[in-house]
Amino acid sequence: MSTAFLLAQKNHQITIYAKAFTPNITSNRAAAFWFPYHIRNDRRGISWCQKSYDYYIQLAQQSETGISIRQLVKVLRKGVEEEEPIWIDFMPQGSYRIMASDELPSNIAKGYDVKVPLMETQIFLPYLQQQLQQKGVKLIEKEIKNFNELAGDYDILINCSALGSRKLCNDDKVIPVKGQVGLLSPRNNLPIYLDNEKPLYIVPRKDAIIVGGTYEERVETETTEPATIERILNNAYEVFPELKQQEVIGSWAGLRPYRPEVRVEHEEGTNIIHNYGHGGSGFTLSFGCAEEVAAIVDQLN
Ligand SMILES: Cc1cc2nc3c(=O)[nH]c(=O)nc-3n(C[C@H](O)[C@H](O)[C@H](O)COP(=O)(O)OP(=O)(O)OC[C@H]3O[C@@H](n4cnc5c(N)ncnc54)[C@H](O)[C@@H]3O)c2cc1C
Repeated sequence: MSTAFLLAQKNHQITIYAKAFTPNITSNRAAAFWFPYHIRNDRRGISWCQKSYDYYIQLAQQSETGISIRQLVKVLRKGVEEEEPIWIDFMPQGSYRIMASDELPSNIAKGYDVKVPLMETQIFLPYLQQQLQQKGVKLIEKEIKNFNELAGDYDILINCSALGSRKLCNDDKVIPVKGQVGLLSPRNNLPIYLDNEKPLYIVPRKDAIIVGGTYEERVETETTEPATIERILNNAYEVFPELKQQEVIGSWAGLRPYRPEVRVEHEEGTNIIHNYGHGGSGFTLSFGCAEEVAAIVDQLN
């Protein structure tokens, strides 16, 4: 939707074909805070992430977008080896600081205080869809089995089909990575909390506190397992015991559309531009990748 959003601003005539729309898409399963996650070996991601960050900062000025700028605390527990902190290369200037040891609990070796956009998907995705409709973008619910179905009807086809690209493009580099989360009743005054090595993330939104998660490669089912959700929630209670007072209000699972390298490119000899494989960072990358697609559209026109 972010790709269509940018192109609609440039007055292109757009039709979106989708097997499903919000709220029945993976994007509704995201937490969804800005943070470079499992994309750190793809250096193109640095500019995509930073452009998206700037975009969200602007959108956060309008409350109806459901985007706010939040404090995220990223921790490394004592005794846990730190992955090389490549994520720092992806951070916009001035968006983080290393916390002083007297700000950290005794079991934490290192902490980062980071300023990040939080996209409340339950508000932001309907907002985006409504903006598209207001700009005259047509939305058609239809599964596309082959790009030939649309051949001749449009000047350019833009493929943003995430996991759907496995079949549509015969691309076996795209794999599902399942994430399960538990939901607690909402509560104010908590930062977003991230312990990637566990993995644990706690994301306070208006409708719920999202507590994740899992990173299950090649798992295709979108169901949650009660024992896994209980383990995830217990991890959160260890960090913030006060969360035990919150009601458990649900759980969900989603499939991240992971690809070792995000595919954003024009397919030689066709009128197709691909934009898929954003894994666990689809929101973090979205507007940056959309800008790249828009630049390719300009070249093709
Ligand atoms: C538990 C979880 C937590 C996450 N947390 C974060 C986070 O905090 N921050 C972050 O940046 N990212 C996060 N992500 C990742 C993020 O959700 C994804 O990267 C993002 O949603 C991918 O967006 P997309 O538009 O490419 O895919 P989708 O939202 O899946 O949209 C793809 C669209 O293509 C359509 N489609 C597919 N195949 C076809 C076809 N053949 N014909 C027609 N239509 C088709 C689908 O119906 C859908 O409309 C998380 C993901 C999960 C599962």
